[in-house]
Amino acid sequence: MVIFKSLQPDIDLPKDLTVWDWAFDSPYSPLSRFPESELRGFQNAITKERINWKDVKECTTYLSTALVKNYGLKEGDTVALFSRNTIWYPVAMLGTLRAGGKVSGASPAYNVEEMTYALKTADAKFLMTAPTSMDVAVAAAKNAGIPKENVFLLEDQLEGYTTIKELIEMGKSYGASGQTPAFKLPTGKKNKDVCGFLSFSSGTTGLPKAVMISHQNVIAQCLQVQQITPTSHNKILAVLPLFHITGLVHGLHLPIILNAEVIMLPSFTMESMLSTIVEYQLGELLLVPPILIRLVRDPIVDKYDLRHLTRFSSGAAPLSEEIIQLLKKKFPGTGFKQGYGMTESCSCITAHPPDKYDYKYAHSVGSIVASTEVKIITEEGKEAGVGEPGEILARGPQIVMGYLNNEKATRETFDKEGFLHTGDQGMIDEEGMVHILDRIKEMIKVKGIGVAPAELEDLLLGHDMVEDVAVLGMKDDYAGELPKAFVVLKAGVSENEKTAKELLAFVREKKTKYKWVKEIEFIKEIPKSASGKILRRLLRDKKSGADKAV
Ligand code: AMP
Repeated sequence: MVIFKSLQPDIDLPKDLTVWDWAFDSPYSPLSRFPESELRGFQNAITKERINWKDVKECTTYLSTALVKNYGLKEGDTVALFSRNTIWYPVAMLGTLRAGGKVSGASPAYNVEEMTYALKTADAKFLMTAPTSMDVAVAAAKNAGIPKENVFLLEDQLEGYTTIKELIEMGKSYGASGQTPAFKLPTGKKNKDVCGFLSFSSGTTGLPKAVMISHQNVIAQCLQVQQITPTSHNKILAVLPLFHITGLVHGLHLPIILNAEVIMLPSFTMESMLSTIVEYQLGELLLVPPILIRLVRDPIVDKYDLRHLTRFSSGAAPLSEEIIQLLKKKFPGTGFKQGYGMTESCSCITAHPPDKYDYKYAHSVGSIVASTEVKIITEEGKEAGVGEPGEILARGPQIVMGYLNNEKATRETFDKEGFLHTGDQGMIDEEGMVHILDRIKEMIKVKGIGVAPAELEDLLLGHDMVEDVAVLGMKDDYAGELPKAFVVLKAGVSENEKTAKELLAFVREKKTKYKWVKEIEFIKEIPKSASGKILRRLLRDKKSGADKAV
C-alpha cells in the first residue's frame, strides 16, 4: 500500500466537543486563553461595527435561546443563511450550532429558483437574509414552505421582519437563568457523528448536493491549519464569501481559535479591498486567483502603498505560473502559500507549512496537513509512488460525512476505507509537496466557485430547440474558467448566431451570473459511453470550432 502521510505531528483532536463549546467553553477557546482586553473579534471594515469573542458568545447564547423558545427550533433543524458577509453572519451560524441546529450557507447571488433548490435540498426550516436579498429570499422561502415569521434579517431593518438584533434581545429577556443550555452531543455520539453544516458542491459529478459537515470536521480543520499558521497572523481579511467552505473555515472559525481580528468586507471592489488592506495594515492576504490576477494587472493597485504586505495565500482554484511570477516581481520580499482541498474535505487537504512560504514552492499546493493520509491512484487503478500522477484520494478527520439524502453519490465519492475521491489529478514530489495537474471531475470553477455542468445541461435540455447538450469549462484569463455549451439542435433548427444568442439569453434569464454560459458550439452528436455518460474528455480535447462559436 502506498499511502502518503503528513509530515506534521498529529493534531490533538477533541472528540466530545461541539463547535460552539470548543470555540467558547473549552480550554481551546480564546476566552480561556486570553484576558478580555486581548480578545479579538469580527469587525465591519466600512461601518466599523465590531463584536469580540465574548460578545459573540453572549449574542449566540441569546440568539439560540430565542430560536428554541420563541420559534421552536429543534435539534437538527436547518437554518439557511442567504447573505453577503456581515459580522452577524458568524453570530447566526454559531447561534444555530449552539441551539443544536445545522447551518446552510447559500450564495447571495442566487435567484429564486436556485435558492428554492438550496432550501429544499437542505430541508431548511428557517432563513436569515439581508434586505438586499429579501425579494428572492421571501419567494424562495414560500416555495420551500418556510413560514414568513421564520425569515429573519441579518442586518438593517425592514417592516414586517424580525432582525437578528431583535432575536438577541428576545433571548436576553429570559435573563441569565432562563437561557437554554448549549447543545450537547447525544449519548454515545462523537462530534464526527453530528452534522453542523450543509454546504453545496457538485462533487465529482451531477447536480449540486448538500455536503454534510460535522462538528469534528470544522474543529479538526482549524487545528490542522492553526498548527502551520504563525502566531503573528493576527489580522485576517474576510473578503471571500462566508457561504463557501474557504470563508466558513478561514474567515470565520479559524480566526476564533487563532484569536485573530477578522476585518469583514461586505462587498468586494478593488478600491474597498485595497483601502482596507492599507487602513488595517493587513500583512497576509488569503485570496482566490481572480483577485490575485487583478492585483498584478489592475493599474489601480499602484495608487496604494502595499509595501507592508508579507504574504499571499491562494486557494479554491489553480493559479498560473505567470501570475505567480508577476506577484513575486510586483511585491518583492513577500512570501507565498497555497491551500488545496474541497468542500468535501472541509477545506484543506494540503497547505504550505511556514518553512515553505516561498515562491520557490508556489507551483505546488503545499504538503499534506496533519493527521491526514493521501493516496494517488493511477489511470490503471494502481497506487502511485512519488512523482507518479493519478487521482488524489484523502482520508482524515476533516473529510466530511457525505451528501445529505444522497447515498449513491456518497458511496461513489467516499470509499469503504474512508478515502475521499477528489476528482483531481495530482502527484507528490520527493519533498512531500503535492502538485495539482488537472481536474478530472465535471466541476467548472468560475472565480473559485464551483459550477455544476449538470445544472446547466438540465436547463438547456429543457429548451425546445435543444436535442442534446454537454457543458464544459473553457479557460478564461480572469475567471479561471467559464462554462461553454456543446449543443446538438433539434432537426430543422438552424445553427446560426441568432440561435446561439437565444440560448445564451435563456441561461442568463434562468441562472445567476457566475453560471452564465460564455460560448455555444454546435455539434452533431455528444460523445457518450455505452451507459450514456458524456465523454467530456473527448469534447475537451476536440479542437475549438471557433467558426461556429459565439
Ligand atoms: P470547492 O468544493 O468549491 O472548494 O472546489 C474544490 C475544487 O477546487 C477542488 O477539487 C479542485 O479542483 C479545486 N481547487 C481547490 N483548491 C485548489 C488549488 N489550490 N489549486 C488547484 N485547484 C484547486
